[in-house]
Amino acid sequence: MENGGVIRWRFGCNDELTKASAITVRGVLNTLMDNLKPEDSRPVIPLGHGDPSSFPCFRTTPLAVDAVCDAVRSAKYNGYGSTVGIPPARSAIAEYLSKDLPYKLSPDDVYLTIGCTQALEVILEVLARPNANILLPRPGFPYYESRAGFCHLEVRHFNLIPERGWEVDLDAVEALADENTAAMVIINPGNPCGNVFSYEHLKKVAETARKLGILVISDEVYDHLTFGNNPFVPMGIFGSIAPIVTVGSISKRWIVPGWRLGWLITNDPNGILKNQGIVDSIKGYLNISSDPATFVQGAIPHILKNTTNEFFTKIVNTLKEAADLCYDRIKDIHCITCPSKPEGSMFVMVKLNLSLLEGIKDDVDFCCKLAEEESVIVLPGVAVGLKNWLRVTFAIEPSSLDDGLGRIKAFYERHAKKQ
Ligand SMILES: *Cc1c(COP(=O)(O)O)cnc(C)c1O
Repeated sequence: MENGGVIRWRFGCNDELTKASAITVRGVLNTLMDNLKPEDSRPVIPLGHGDPSSFPCFRTTPLAVDAVCDAVRSAKYNGYGSTVGIPPARSAIAEYLSKDLPYKLSPDDVYLTIGCTQALEVILEVLARPNANILLPRPGFPYYESRAGFCHLEVRHFNLIPERGWEVDLDAVEALADENTAAMVIINPGNPCGNVFSYEHLKKVAETARKLGILVISDEVYDHLTFGNNPFVPMGIFGSIAPIVTVGSISKRWIVPGWRLGWLITNDPNGILKNQGIVDSIKGYLNISSDPATFVQGAIPHILKNTTNEFFTKIVNTLKEAADLCYDRIKDIHCITCPSKPEGSMFVMVKLNLSLLEGIKDDVDFCCKLAEEESVIVLPGVAVGLKNWLRVTFAIEPSSLDDGLGRIKAFYERHAKKQ
């Protein structure tokens, strides 16, 4: 409508999107980057990221690269796939995951998604009925909060307990749940804590879920990236106690997050998810969504069947050495303490002791000044739900990690409170 030469445009922004994306890891990291000083000639040390694919020691296996190239060249995967994923890829993933389970997954339990991220999107949207709520870990992975908020799924938080190796506070889970609670989320191996849950603890999680009549969403995007006392145990093992939806991808174990290939698995030997209509809702949501690139799906059977143990072992050993180095060097930096040595994933959470520092307000202030003075990027705990903590990524080249931790120590010594 034209009114005195001024056009009144009828469209405007969606405020809910601005709200949903207010706190994201990438958003916080971008803010920190703005504090870097261009005149510092030293390389920037990134200890805030979750994507080590650019570092030579974390390069993926050539076998996976060849599998993708072969899939493209075969010309068999130039078309659309099916909305749930192409059959050979679903079968290969069912077989790959069944190796660690007491029962066999059917290809029909497997839905291919655009990374683990889309798998989360699917299950959160499926559960977002009016008035429903979901229980999330704190600290956690902020995508859950953003996405749940955006689809009006109420979020309630239970704590992970640092003194108990970041185990779930199961009493809190029971206290939070009510008749509108649909699910609880665990992330194992953990982001941001680098913890790995024991078999016994996971069994208790399943028993709690059964008691409450809820399902467990198990984010296993770091599956098998473990290097401590607890081996990786897939939550699906307990699928007969309570229904489990497992989400995962090749992003972290194969270090190819840009390939965008993930999955959602229904671990449900008793058919409860099916009876409750969840399986139909998952299919329905995928019918109105986009799919992972067909040629990456085409490469999946080869990648899953033929990747050598040598590659996996090399990556896990690199992570273990980096985690050990990180843990040892942190002991020397008195303003941060690590309550629990990392045993998996790529991260460790450390607690900031502000009383030992002069002129540092909080975790965000610490990280901004660290970026400015030392060109080191570390994620402030608020970004993952724990104020005045820090999340440190150790998945980078060892020499850079060493350099970065040395700079954090120098930063601490410069800002230490005089006695
Ligand atoms: C990286 C990550 C994801 C997303 O994985 P993609 O496969 O890259 O989409 C999901 N959950 C957690 C905890 C992650 O760290």
